[in-house]
Amino acid sequence: MNAQIIDGKRIAGEIRGEIRRETESLAERRVKPGLAVVLVGEDPASQVYVRNKAKACEELGFYSEVHRLEAETTQDELLALIARLNGQADINGILVQLPLPKHIAEKAVIDAISVDKDVDGFHPISVGNLLIGDDALQPCTPSGVIELLKRTGNEPSGKHAVVIGRSNIVGKPVSMLLLREHATVTICHSRTPDLAAVVRGADIVVAAVGVPKLVKADWVKPGAVVIDVGVNRLPDGKLCGDVDYEGVSQVASWITPVPGGVGPMTITMLMLNTLKAAKRAHGII
Ligand code: NAD
Repeated sequence: MNAQIIDGKRIAGEIRGEIRRETESLAERRVKPGLAVVLVGEDPASQVYVRNKAKACEELGFYSEVHRLEAETTQDELLALIARLNGQADINGILVQLPLPKHIAEKAVIDAISVDKDVDGFHPISVGNLLIGDDALQPCTPSGVIELLKRTGNEPSGKHAVVIGRSNIVGKPVSMLLLREHATVTICHSRTPDLAAVVRGADIVVAAVGVPKLVKADWVKPGAVVIDVGVNRLPDGKLCGDVDYEGVSQVASWITPVPGGVGPMTITMLMLNTLKAAKRAHGII
């Protein structure tokens, strides 16, 4: 079997088109979604992410503010900025780029963001709402995974989904979203014995591990759908996922490439969350 490619770039473009149309109709009601991105320090990868987020805002007609703070910024200074952004009516979403410098407690910062503006979906109340199935702003990469499945006709309902990885950013929330979509979910991690055997039972495999090419062709049931969240840099500088793409694409029915699969969805889902937060702030949904 030769798997069909789940084209994240195309699907992200489709969603951005939908966001743009909604933003235009909101403009008629004088509503403009606003996103604040906060970067502390000079981590080169974070700088690229922040630039891309500001660019996405511009393309979609959002208002955006980028706050670039020095690496020596104190936790109190950062919390004061967040308090100000929480109170700012033109800001609907606040994103603090992680990781933060070691002297700042990430948890204190995430907890300080207003739940209504928590477009990363990392606040404990957002996580709790996700778990109990209440309406919440959902974390971006996991909700991107669900969109990729649904928009390629791979409804999770009734399927056995095996998630490899249990991080708070990807593994746990994607598992909760799959459960919400009525999949039977198995969560695996570094201490799961005979991972290959568990993965072989899956109709849907979601790999969010950070180990290059961990998932091999003989781990995958013929016809399974494989979503590769992993982004790993190989010694030759090339990017690769957590799935052995060459081999697995011979067995799976659908597969995401790396790059060009899950990656393009993350910022798009952030924009969708900001739009949603703006609509809620104006009582539109
Ligand atoms: P993490 O390091 O926080 O978590 C990795 C998880 O994998 C852990 O739960 C661990 O138990 C599990 N694990 C590690 N080794 C294992 C093994 N040998 N077998 C089974 N499980 C194992 O990582 P994360 O933040 O969840 O990210 C995972 C990957 O996804 C990384 O490659 C990261 O770069 C990528 N990622 C991509 C995006 C995106 O937008 N595309 C977003 C977030 C993360």
